[in-house]
Amino acid sequence: MQLEFMSLIDKNEMKKRDAEAIFQTYARQDVVLVRGAGAKVWDSEGKEYLDFVAGIAVNNVGHCHPDVVEAIARQAETLIHTSNLYYTENQVLLAEELKRLTGMNRAYFCNSGAESVEAALKLTRRATGKAMIVAAERAFHGRTLGALGATYKAAYREPFRPLNEAVFVPYNDPEALKAAVTKDTGAVILEPIQGEAGVYVPDPGYLKAARQICDDAGALLIFDEVQTGFGRTGRWFAKDYSGVQPDIITLAKALAGGLPMGAMLAQERVSEAFQRGDHGSTFAGGALVSAAALATIEVIKKERLVQRSEEMGAYLCTELKKLGPREIRGQGLMVGLDLDADCKILVEKALQKGVLINSTGDHTIRLIPPLVVTRDQIDRVVKVIGESL
Ligand code: PLP
Repeated sequence: MQLEFMSLIDKNEMKKRDAEAIFQTYARQDVVLVRGAGAKVWDSEGKEYLDFVAGIAVNNVGHCHPDVVEAIARQAETLIHTSNLYYTENQVLLAEELKRLTGMNRAYFCNSGAESVEAALKLTRRATGKAMIVAAERAFHGRTLGALGATYKAAYREPFRPLNEAVFVPYNDPEALKAAVTKDTGAVILEPIQGEAGVYVPDPGYLKAARQICDDAGALLIFDEVQTGFGRTGRWFAKDYSGVQPDIITLAKALAGGLPMGAMLAQERVSEAFQRGDHGSTFAGGALVSAAALATIEVIKKERLVQRSEEMGAYLCTELKKLGPREIRGQGLMVGLDLDADCKILVEKALQKGVLINSTGDHTIRLIPPLVVTRDQIDRVVKVIGESL
């Protein structure tokens, strides 16, 4: 392997130094990654892996796509950061593109998924004056204090109380939602497909019912498309399956091809509630990340990755069925697989066999590969999962 692709620190030393120098908030896999291209990554010892985690649904256009790399390099030589005290061209071009893609009216930029949810919650408070949020059981909306209040897992929330905690209702249950939403509800926040929970797709009609319930009660409807956005599910956004337009949509992950960026878009009547000074961020929508996002969106269009996600997702599910799982859930290349196996061990075995996958529970694997993945690569991953079972 070429020297520039090698890590200067040996793996065991790396683990020791990480343990001493970095907050130990992450459970890491036993591997040091140094390079990526398309759906593949390589470790510090030169071993190749197929990456069916894709930076947790971030690398939709694949690792180091040449067009994105070129856009970043070109922009980095021109202007990296100026702050939001000044106009920059890429930010406005990107906002216009996101308006077209989502059918929303105005964009607010930020730097992560949790921040986009924070922005949505603050906008809800400003627009409605109400603090009560209704969210779904199993929901994941991020780890900052506001977003954490709408994240279901008690283990994430409890150590950090008091929070503005949401009222949680079972997902995909319109009656339960209706019973929970009152005149005091500021907003209902839903993932159009639940991701971190292990990929749960609602019945057709659920999101439409949610829209009606919110309209009847005068509450806002927020769709968190941080994970489902940018072709992941076989549509540009998972909401497109339902035809439902939310009042607010949150985006991040795949948006800037791997650079940290989030966005919150809203309908005009809601977005007007944010006045100058109501919210802001030093880095948000900077020239460099915005250039990366514009290039990423262009690649998704040029390479027809939304359609590809639908086709390859269907193929992946067909092949996975042959393994006889308990259940397969998903849309496009966002697939959850329940297995009669210890999935933590399965993830480790797959890693040894050169495949990166991720478990969202003791018996659940989530497969979220780059949308550029090929049939041969899918075949190999399914074979490795089968062998590892
Ligand atoms: N919302 C959803 C639906 C997510 O899946 C995630 C992350 O997995 C987040 C919000 C939080 O995003 P971030 O990790 O960028 O803060």
